[in-house]
This record gives sequence, structure tokens and C-alpha cells, in this order.
Amino acid sequence: MGYIEFHGLSKRYPKKEQWALKEFQLSMERGEFLAIVGPSGSGKSTLLNVLTGFEDATAGSFILEGEDVTNRPPKNRNISLVFQEYALFPHMTVKENISFGMKIRKEGKQYIEEKVKWAAEKLELKELLQEKPKHLSGGQRQRVALARAIVREPKLFLLDEPLSNLDAKLREQTGALIRQVHDQLEATTIFVTHAQDEAMSLADRIVVVKDGAIQQIGTPKEIYERPDNLFVARFIGRPEINCLAGELLADGSLRVGQQIIGQGFDYVPAQKVTAAIRSEDLAIVAAEKDSLKGSVQSIRYLGSDLLVSILWGEVPLIIRTAPDAEVTVGQEIYFLINQSKILIFSNEDNQKLNVL
Ligand code: ADP
Repeated sequence: MGYIEFHGLSKRYPKKEQWALKEFQLSMERGEFLAIVGPSGSGKSTLLNVLTGFEDATAGSFILEGEDVTNRPPKNRNISLVFQEYALFPHMTVKENISFGMKIRKEGKQYIEEKVKWAAEKLELKELLQEKPKHLSGGQRQRVALARAIVREPKLFLLDEPLSNLDAKLREQTGALIRQVHDQLEATTIFVTHAQDEAMSLADRIVVVKDGAIQQIGTPKEIYERPDNLFVARFIGRPEINCLAGELLADGSLRVGQQIIGQGFDYVPAQKVTAAIRSEDLAIVAAEKDSLKGSVQSIRYLGSDLLVSILWGEVPLIIRTAPDAEVTVGQEIYFLINQSKILIFSNEDNQKLNVL
């Protein structure tokens, strides 16, 4: 049995036809860092509210360390929640904010002192203990909120978009700190975000959700390299994966427009499909026998890479290449598609087609 389990966990709000959460099925190990990622309206907040107990589940169960806590009141679940908006008390100092919960629980003075010191060290807040939140930056406030969460030593940390209010640099630093603290405490964490890059860089496993339903569960590498459906393929990874309308022919070749771009596909033939290929699996080459010809529409310089947008006939594609590649807008270029990296999805249900 997993440390955390969801069995068909579902939620439907009164007077709504749609399920906000549809039969979530998941098992988590102790110490795991799991990211739930999906676009707006996919059910992330609903899941958090059901896990904390602020909302009742309509069906299914939530097991935490062997105990069914589905119907327990929030305060008896031993879960710490960290919000996007920090939710600090403005009239209290950092120290008072961190110790507030422990005071309410009537912990001893010495215990509280030690705990505050311990948390302040972990979250780099030692110099700020006497400050009020209004004198802190967004990153510092979020670290106070995290300190307040860790002193509870909860069974589960729930992080609700904790990086969304921070600018890019702080987002990276704070994300790294969250992961570091998670590892040091051997905590178990569910991190909810709409930002796929945060999920990819921080989590052991990712759960991709859409319309209240789990689309795929896997390590960042599995999700990136072997997406189960077209939604996951497009949602994960930037720039968005290139998509081509194609057809699988009886001889195992893949045709896009009038061009055969791959051969030896062991799929059920004669069906319309979407072929998807990541920007790094296209390569600009010198004109050669099998190369395809496109024209450069625009170029984005990213420092470490160059993203070259081309039109291949009428099909727009993005090619990731080395930053010193010599390409100019309007130029004709030749390119190759790494056939082994082509992902094929059915046009019927957008699911990955299985090899025969
Ligand atoms: P996310 O957090 O991923 O943006 P939500 O959990 O907020 O998604 O929303 C999932 C679905 O549930 C949406 O269709 C939304 O309209 C609906 N929903 C969310 N909260 C409520 C609520 N309190 N009452 C009714 N419907 C809600």
C-alpha cells in the first residue's frame, strides 16, 4: 500500500453537471515529490480543497498513511497547505507568524523557540525574524509561509502554486529551495501548478490533469518522451511540440502532404493521424538526398539555443538548433526529421497509437 492513495476520488459541485474531479486513482510513496499540473479549470484547486477537507469528496477515498481521512475535518488531517498568496498575518513579525500555530496548539515555549530557529535556518530567514511581512519581498514572504508549514511536521505538504507570484529569478531560487527542504525533511509533497516547467524541473513524478481527469502519471522524462495523448504532448515542453496531419499507409510509411517522412511504422495502417515531433528532433542540414526544404519565418535567440520557425510547404515547424547556426529570416533551409522520435496519435481519440 502506498503512503498516500486516492481511490476513485471524485467531486461534483452542487447543480453542476460536469465532474470537477473524475475518479482520481493514484498511489504515492513516502518522501515523494509529486506535481499536479494542468491548465486553468482542470480541477487542481478542487483537488486541493478535497485533500485539505475544505470541500467534501462526492465519491471515492483519500488514504493517508493507511488511514481513510476522506471525511475527517481539516484540522485532524495533519496536512500543511502553502498558498500562492502567502496568507501571512500582517500585524505579526516573521517569528510570530511562524510560531502562531504552535502557540495555538499550546506547545512549550522552549520547543517553539527551537522550532522557529530550526525553520528559520532551513529557509534562510534568520536575519528577518523581527520583521513584519510588509517589509519583506515576495520571495521572503513565501519562505515565511513555508517555514510556518514545516514547523507542523505534517504528514503531507500541499503547495498551491507557491511560485506564481514571484518573478522569474526568484521562482527558480524558491523552487530549488522548496525541493531542497523537501529532501532534507524527507517530506511528502504534492505541488500544484499550471506551469509545466516548474513541474518538470522539481517533481519526481508528474500527474497531468485536464477537465478533472488524470491524463498521465509519470516521471518528467516519461511524460516528455512518451506522452500518452496529444494533450499531454502539447502541454508539456516548450516550444510546443510540432504537430503534422498525416496518414499511415499500408506499407508502414507515414505520409504528410505528398511527402513520406518516415517508414517502418508498425501501426494499423490506413488511418489519419497526428505526427508530433519536438523541436530538438528536427535538424538543419546541408541539402542532401532525403532532406526537406523549408523557409525561415522567424528566429528566437535563447542564448543556449536558437528556435527557428519555418514553413515547410504550409506546415509551420520550429527547429531548435545551436545558437551559432547561420540562419536568416527569409532564407531557404534544408532539414531532417529524426524518425525514431516521431510520436503518432490517433485522430479519433488523440491517444498514442500502440505499436502492433
Ligand atoms: P483549476 O484549479 O485547475 O483552475 P478548479 O478546481 O478551480 O480548476 O475548477 C474545476 C472545475 O470545477 C471548473 O469547471 C470550475 O468551474 C468548477 N468549480 C470550481 N470550484 C467550484 C465551486 N465552488 N462551485 C462550482 N463549481 C466549481
